Amino acid sequence: MNSLKSYNTFGVDVHCAHLEIIKSENQLITFLKDHPDKEKRIIGEGSNLLLVNDLNEMVLVNRIKGISIIDENDEYVKVVVGGGENWHQFVIWALDHNLGGIENLSLIPGTVGAAPIQNIGAYGTEQDSVFEYLFAVDMKNGTKRVFSKEDCQFGYRDSIFKSTLKDRYFITGVVYRLLRHPMVNTSYGAIKEVLKAWRVSDPDINDVSRAVIYIRQSKLPDPKIIGNSGSFFKNPIITRTHLEKLQHFFPEMPFYPIDNNLVKVPAGWLIEKCGWKGKKVGQTGTYKKQALVLVNYGGASGREILELSYNIRNSVRDTFDIDIQPEVNIWPDMVEAH
Ligand code: NAP
Repeated sequence: MNSLKSYNTFGVDVHCAHLEIIKSENQLITFLKDHPDKEKRIIGEGSNLLLVNDLNEMVLVNRIKGISIIDENDEYVKVVVGGGENWHQFVIWALDHNLGGIENLSLIPGTVGAAPIQNIGAYGTEQDSVFEYLFAVDMKNGTKRVFSKEDCQFGYRDSIFKSTLKDRYFITGVVYRLLRHPMVNTSYGAIKEVLKAWRVSDPDINDVSRAVIYIRQSKLPDPKIIGNSGSFFKNPIITRTHLEKLQHFFPEMPFYPIDNNLVKVPAGWLIEKCGWKGKKVGQTGTYKKQALVLVNYGGASGREILELSYNIRNSVRDTFDIDIQPEVNIWPDMVEAH
């Protein structure tokens, strides 16, 4: 059995039947053909993962690297990026080449191969705005396949790789179209405030990236110091009727319109309002600056962190009649709260 402690940012110590570090598409295809009947799972950087028990499956770690320009003109540069590249290193590469489109996604943890699965997004930008297509290998038979943007069925933190094709494909590379003359997106209040405080009146992509990094570092713990997997829960979407009922009791409740009928509510605010912010329970708890982040202060088991998440979910349900759903993947399988 191999330890997965250094392959998940919660730093939970569980084991798997076999660990294979994948560095190339050929190695992956050979491995899949050599082990046709074994159950397998894929890990990128394990930054969106809670491991609760030992795994009977083989674990494949995506470490396929490389960033290459495949096409360019006066307007854009198309790059193919290895699925095992660190996302933020790719953002830095883009900034170093003066290319825009992903600066708002600075410091999002995880690999490039994981980015389309969740359609990562932050501060008003999502990765599908620069996505072109991706290369993947079928985990069942080692067959290669190219997925267009339409094939991926991107939604809010969602894609086909989270539904009908969940765990089916290993993403070996992604092609992005970065812009030579980007329009910066400073629509989110937090970015505007930081740039104003820095007296930056005409921000470029580097300014926006610096602002995002500053905001994230000021409220999120570094997993190298305190184990965590970023936002543990998704921001729930509720009806306006539900919101109006809640506003009688919580007039200050923040919300963001989705359409005429639905609004998005920050899960962190709900959790904080239930008194969980900065609470420590054994070796686990919520982060003192952001209640949405569950942390491992050292030595917590996956089971303890899961129990804490159940207790938080129950509090939010009892107080607001809202069921907040985990954003992180829970392995072996999600065990429902009792
Ligand atoms: P936050 O900035 O406190 O915002 C909480 C919620 O309010 C989010 O759902 C956000 O929507 C929404 N919101 C805030 N300002 C908004 C505006 N001007 N217009 C519309 N919606 C607004 O959230 P946080 O948890 O600290 O996260 C910061 C950013 O990182 C957010 O954009 C969040 O989505 C993103 N994030 C992404 C991932 C991921 O891709 N896996 C994980 C964690 C956080 P949005 O979610 O639409 O931005």
